[in-house]
Amino acid sequence: MDVNFFNYDEMLKKAKEQVPPDIYHHKRFEIPVVDLFIEGNRTVVQNWKDITTRLNRDPAHLLKFLTRELATAGTMDGPRAIFQGKFSKNFLNDLIERYAKRYLICPTCTSPDTILLKEGPYHFIKCEACGAKEAVPKLK
Ligand SMILES: [Zn+2]
Repeated sequence: MDVNFFNYDEMLKKAKEQVPPDIYHHKRFEIPVVDLFIEGNRTVVQNWKDITTRLNRDPAHLLKFLTRELATAGTMDGPRAIFQGKFSKNFLNDLIERYAKRYLICPTCTSPDTILLKEGPYHFIKCEACGAKEAVPKLK
């Protein structure tokens, strides 16, 4: 038996096993992580501006979504946002992820390259990648 040939065969098998099984078609969108501290009875989000820039959404729209979900009051203070009450980082991260899934990520192709459109009483997200246009719930 040709020993070298056998080894080559084994090497080929090993190389194939090392190919990652999952190859993403889209760059996975990373939800920005909230950086906050509690001050008295308020929660101060320090990287608010960074979060809204990364999401590419109107900060007022995200603020409205969060204050509705948290059932509290919130204000923007320069690059920060301040919410009444004490909220954990994980809790706020989950809400921002929910916001991104609803108002940012294209439901058709999962691309984050979308824009939020307002047409009369309706809101849509329009995908720049695949052209899909999906109605989204309007924030009241
Ligand atoms: Zn799309």
